[in-house]
Amino acid sequence: MLDSCENGLHGQDVLTLRGWLDHAGRAVFFGGAGVSTESGIPDFRSSTGLYRTASGVGYPAETVVSHDFFWEHPEDFWKFYMTRMVFPDARPNACHRKLAELARQGRLAAIVTQNIDGLHQKAGSDPGSVLELHGAVARNSCTNRACGARYTLAEVVALYRAGEEGRRAPRCPVCGAPIKPDVVLYGEALDESVMLRAAAAIEQADVVVVAGTSLAVWPAAGLLGYYRGSRLAVVNLSATPADPSADLVIHEKLGEVFSW
Ligand code: NAD
Repeated sequence: MLDSCENGLHGQDVLTLRGWLDHAGRAVFFGGAGVSTESGIPDFRSSTGLYRTASGVGYPAETVVSHDFFWEHPEDFWKFYMTRMVFPDARPNACHRKLAELARQGRLAAIVTQNIDGLHQKAGSDPGSVLELHGAVARNSCTNRACGARYTLAEVVALYRAGEEGRRAPRCPVCGAPIKPDVVLYGEALDESVMLRAAAAIEQADVVVVAGTSLAVWPAAGLLGYYRGSRLAVVNLSATPADPSADLVIHEKLGEVFSW
């Protein structure tokens, strides 16, 4: 039976999680879009998520964020991307900050994230230990391999805004080819070296915390199969496929759970 505490959380479970992390030596945090909803960035599958709200371009969001759509409907892709997926002013929340603190204390070996928002690095986490499975909005590349020019988010935003209404898909100022964000769209492969590092970190982890993810996106979700330990925690508002095999399950808001 779960205990309750003053703030309404399942107090004993949060204390257990805190104890695991405070005594961990190589914990891994495996997170998804739910880690950043309290920073004002919508996730995909919650009731207010991008899959449940109008995309603004006449196609379902899950269709828009695909490799084929990027090439076939560049203007619609960029309109959706810039208005629904890029949040340059978002700030880290309590969860991002607590993870950076745990890493500084030597408790956390890696943050494996499906997020593309860069908020873990903004919170102070070492970029080398944040494994971005699906890329990052901060990085953008010219799609002409012979050119290969790289652009920051600010540069791409400026190029997008400089375009005429209806023709804003950013093009490389060097060679004129389309620019693409370094984010993994449906139909694209994940970076193999990032996947291997994430699998190794999870395999060697003493504690794994799965948080803010529906675990609906593969192959990212399959990485949890590498865990060999007995301290697997799930912290997520709704139930996940990992709940039945987890050693601890907390269905609460991350910002509240990670606020010790
Ligand atoms: P998802 O939308 O499928 O699932 C999010 C989960 O987080 C849900 O189960 C929800 O109940 C939970 N959640 C939401 N807010 C929470 C909170 N405050 N505390 C605890 N739990 C909370 O997200 P996913 O599994 O990450 O898969 C979606 C894909 O979309 C990923 O590949 C990700 O790269 C991408 N995405 C990223 C961002 C971002 O970078 N912030 C935002 C939207 C989508």
